[in-house]
Amino acid sequence: MSAFSYEKKTQLDGALGRTGAITTPHGVIQTPAFIPVGTKATVKAVLPESMGELGAQALLANAYHLYLQPGPEIVDEAGGVGKFMNWSGPTFTDSGGFQVLSLGVGFKKVIAMNEDTFRDDEVIAEGKDRLAHVDDDGVTFKSHLDGSMHRFTPEISIGIQHQLGADIMFAFDECTTLHNTRGYQQKSLERTRLWAKRCLVEHGRLTELRSDKPYQALFGVLQGAQYEDLRRKAAKDLSGLDEDGITFDGFGLGGALDKEKLGTIVSWLCEELPDNKPRHLLGIGEPDDLFVGVENGADTFDCVAPSRQARTSAVFTPDGRVNLTNAKYQRQFSPIDEACDCYTCKHYTAAYLNHLFKAKEMLASTLATIHNERFIVRLVDQMRESINSGDFYDLKKDFLGRFYSAKS
Ligand SMILES: [Zn+2]
Repeated sequence: MSAFSYEKKTQLDGALGRTGAITTPHGVIQTPAFIPVGTKATVKAVLPESMGELGAQALLANAYHLYLQPGPEIVDEAGGVGKFMNWSGPTFTDSGGFQVLSLGVGFKKVIAMNEDTFRDDEVIAEGKDRLAHVDDDGVTFKSHLDGSMHRFTPEISIGIQHQLGADIMFAFDECTTLHNTRGYQQKSLERTRLWAKRCLVEHGRLTELRSDKPYQALFGVLQGAQYEDLRRKAAKDLSGLDEDGITFDGFGLGGALDKEKLGTIVSWLCEELPDNKPRHLLGIGEPDDLFVGVENGADTFDCVAPSRQARTSAVFTPDGRVNLTNAKYQRQFSPIDEACDCYTCKHYTAAYLNHLFKAKEMLASTLATIHNERFIVRLVDQMRESINSGDFYDLKKDFLGRFYSAKS
């Protein structure tokens, strides 16, 4: 029944990084890979065909948002999230754990996210009351859409994700912040472990009940904030769980991650995790963080940043992020990046994008998003190729040296 597997290929010299392939009922993902986010079953402003053309191997949608709108039963009746949004490749859904806990509280999924990448649909302004209440059984929260009250438990989250029908789902966990005390982290980690067991049981039940549907893999989510013993414990606990033969198919590396300690924390987790299962680093998409994640053993990544930033006219170039509304682009009758092979750079000039953004034309978001998603997808593809060819550390040094050097 398990049409899901992970095969490791090449190990990175002297580190935990690796290349491999994740096989799902909807196709194979060559890893490491960047998975673009379509929160509400759409990568904002871009056709799924364009996402395929720019090299996206899979897309990630969010269970919290699709639960509130249009409702998981609609997506189920449509044949699952992939079919609903006309994306034939593999899909992921986030459990909603992060969203129900973070809305209104002003905290970030990972501290590695820059300030400009966390706002609107993930975090409401700081200083507002927390809209969620956690207890040992689940989380009660207020909808950010209409203020109505809802409740997620491990069973409810897994039920929703089975209805959404993605190839890869995540266990429901409590996402803490770096501001929580050590004592709270410890208590919360135990709660997340017990929730993980309940997720596996419900996952097993629904997999059997819905055996006519394609197999959906379930990843356990590892918390533990900045504490080495808690992180290692989380990895050991969740990779050792076995509920009547039902085990996690892979792992999500999540929770509060201090940017400076990102690599260290990922390495603690990956040292404890089994080699034969994939690892997804949740919510990471900055170039330097991607290098650190790949080097330390993460296989897949997702982040809203490339598309969100694109819609605000911030685009990636090999020389760093630039803003297309800058006056210097008004007469740049050449692409954003001469070396970029994306549809936007092949057909349009920076001057045209500068005009579209200033005129507030919708096409600006479409073209800039295609470029940014292609830039990040291709960067992680290059990391994969460089591990296979033995040039990872050269690529890292060359890319980061240029990308983060002083801008003109
Ligand atoms: Zn481009």
